Amino acid sequence: MAQLPSRPILLLERPVNSMKKLEEVLQDWEAVIGLEIHAELTTLNTKMFCGCKLEFGADPNTHTCPICLGLPGALPVPNKAAIESIVLAGLATNCDIEKHSMFYRKNYMYPDMAKNFQTTQGPVAFCMRGHLDLEVDGAGAKERIDLDGLKPGESQGNVTATEDGYVAHVGITRIHMEEDAGKMVHIGGDEGRIAGATHSLVDYNRAGTPLIELVTEPDLRTPEEARLFMQKLRQIYLAIGISDCSMEEGSMRCDGNVSLRRRGSTGLGVKTELKNMNSFKNLHDGLAYEICRQAQVLEEGGQIYQETRHWDPSAKRTIVMRVKETADDYRLFPEADLAPYDLTDEWIDGVRAKLPELPDQKAARYQKCFGLSAYDARHLVEHRATSNFFEKGMELAGDKASKLAKPLANLAINDITARMNADESFNLAECPLTPARAIELVELIATDAISSKQGKEVFAAVIDEDKDPSAIVDERGMKQVSDTSAIEAVVDAVIAANPDEVARYKEGNTKLIGFFVGQCMKEMRGQGNPKVINQLLAKKLNA
Ligand code: ADP
Ligand code: MG
Ligand code: ZN
Repeated sequence: MAQLPSRPILLLERPVNSMKKLEEVLQDWEAVIGLEIHAELTTLNTKMFCGCKLEFGADPNTHTCPICLGLPGALPVPNKAAIESIVLAGLATNCDIEKHSMFYRKNYMYPDMAKNFQTTQGPVAFCMRGHLDLEVDGAGAKERIDLDGLKPGESQGNVTATEDGYVAHVGITRIHMEEDAGKMVHIGGDEGRIAGATHSLVDYNRAGTPLIELVTEPDLRTPEEARLFMQKLRQIYLAIGISDCSMEEGSMRCDGNVSLRRRGSTGLGVKTELKNMNSFKNLHDGLAYEICRQAQVLEEGGQIYQETRHWDPSAKRTIVMRVKETADDYRLFPEADLAPYDLTDEWIDGVRAKLPELPDQKAARYQKCFGLSAYDARHLVEHRATSNFFEKGMELAGDKASKLAKPLANLAINDITARMNADESFNLAECPLTPARAIELVELIATDAISSKQGKEVFAAVIDEDKDPSAIVDERGMKQVSDTSAIEAVVDAVIAANPDEVARYKEGNTKLIGFFVGQCMKEMRGQGNPKVINQLLAKKLNA
């Protein structure tokens, strides 16, 4: 590899406010992004190479032993369940499982690892050469400006256009096994940072926690794709049950590597690495910022240095942490205390047999069995809570399932998801809106007993008052009037009372239909069926 220029000592960085916006930058530059995603195998009982218990939040240094403290002479014993977890992860992400692999020592000196090396894998990891397909649609698809003019079904590079966006095929280089370090707490400094601290404490409970690291190919092109990749991977890990994937508690964390190149060129630019993006939003926004920063540096004739940067979401900028170390610095060498692995085909098949239904498969089943659109199916499986809810509802719906599938999916994707997003303590599994009540609610709307607007009110009332939808409808006298003759009388009265508007409508101002619908609704105190009102108005006004 060519020698990279070292960074000048004096760092003068541009003020943030003079930067171009992402859309503008992406006109001239193509971003190249690769992710490194760590997940702690929190669902296991014990650490990677010893029998110490895995427990988040225990008293400091209560789960340690000679092995995870790296005392002389202690011999590691690999955790078989951890190997099974990483193989599950590999199978779920279309990787080849390498039958022969081994562990290495990655040497470094820092108090968070008492052994002075981290046990990790070398060039051959348990899982190699995988991929995930990302469905990108809606506003997020617009970040990909080079696909204009591509028709649904047409491909360009690793991307295929769809009706409302595109599918990106993203390569996974590898998933390897390693162990986590302990946790340092810096005392007396600013916000727990080491700068200005008077002393530091170290807790080795986390040292030796089994960790898997997935590395993608540099196949991602927009911050939105990076965000979706991370989200999809999290859904898969949750489905196979290998980690609780808590971004807040750090059991799933992501580093984003990004470089720029002029549109049309194919080489790779010098990349920077953004460390520990601990939410989907931070990952997206940090990368977006870094793309704009690099563009500015390059456009002003400057140079990008290969360095590690930290995204500060409150200041909305990235800051240099350190100039990148190279693999040579770690003196990686084979771990002589651990025998190389020989996985058998039978054992791998046994793990394969434990794979549950994955989110993509579930979405495909929802399309096939319940006639949902690809979009609805995909968004429904984003959260296990909403998809479980939907499935219970469908069971209860019996022979009405095919009719109520779409409205129930909408309720789950829109109203329920909005509620979950707005209120973190909202727990769908324990909420008064049971699947049975949800089915009752969507049926009331589907049969025109109440309007969809009234449906929103009933939705909120079921949750707040813990009552059946039908009881709320009765109490509030909400029945929707669909009876044509009753509505016709109101429509006639409204037309008779507004001759000026009728004349303007007939002259071509057809937007006035909204005014007439509003008047009828007002007359009927919101209980008229809008479909019937619209039909009758159109018929009479166009007569
Ligand atoms: P390093 O040795 O710096 O860790 P790697 O080759 O291991 O780099 O790659 C780390 C991550 O960075 C991978 O996800 C890879 O796809 C991505 N990557 C590598 N080169 C580039 C580049 N020039 N621009 C953007 N991402 C890159
Ligand atoms: Mg690397
Ligand atoms: Zn231990």
